[in-house]
Amino acid sequence: MRQMNSLDDYLREAEIAHGHLCAGQVLGVRMAMAGLARLAISDPRGADRKRLVTYVEIDRCATDAIAVVTGCRLGKRALKFRDWGKMAATFVDLESGKAIRVAAKESSKELARRLHPEIATKNQQQMRAYRELPDDDLFSFQEVRVEVGPEELPGYKGERIVCDQCGEGINFRREIVRNGQVLCQGCAGKSYYTV
Ligand SMILES: [Zn+2]
Ligand SMILES: [Zn+2]
Repeated sequence: MRQMNSLDDYLREAEIAHGHLCAGQVLGVRMAMAGLARLAISDPRGADRKRLVTYVEIDRCATDAIAVVTGCRLGKRALKFRDWGKMAATFVDLESGKAIRVAAKESSKELARRLHPEIATKNQQQMRAYRELPDDDLFSFQEVRVEVGPEELPGYKGERIVCDQCGEGINFRREIVRNGQVLCQGCAGKSYYTV
C-alpha cells in the first residue's frame, strides 16, 4: 500500500492547484489528513479512492486543499457542498459506514497569534502555526452518521427525466413531482436566477 503523503507534499500540490499558498490551504490539508487518519484511510487517491465521499461546509481556500488531499472532486460526485459557511468537513468511509466530522476551532486563531508573536502578519502567523499545532488544538472531531443514498454515489447510473415545463433533462432523481407534473428544481420555484 502506498504511504500517505507528508504535509509538505500535500501543501506543494495544494499551492499549485489553488494558485497560492495561504493559511486556509494549510488548515484544509491538515483537516483532511486528520479526518482520513481517523478513518484509517491511507491511500485516498489510489487503492481507497472508491471508499471516500467528502462533505464540505464552506467554499473557500480550504475546500480546494481538501479536494487535493482526498481526491474527492465535484465532477466525480465524491465532493458534496453544503453551503453553511462553516470551516468544517465530514469524511465518509462508504466501506465501513464510519464518518467523521472535523471542524476548525475558533480558538486556533488566538493560539496562532500567541505561538508566533514575532511574525508580523496574521496570515503568516497562521500559516506557520497551522503547520505546527497538534490536531486537537486545531480541530474538534465528531463521529457522525451520513446516509448517502444510491443516487448520491459516484457512478450512479439512473435514467434521465425531462422536465414537463422547460423540457430540460434532469439527472440523479432531482425532479420534483407536483400535481402529476414532473418539474426541475428551477420550474418548481427553487430557481437561483431570474430572467
Ligand atoms: Zn487561498
Ligand atoms: Zn424545468
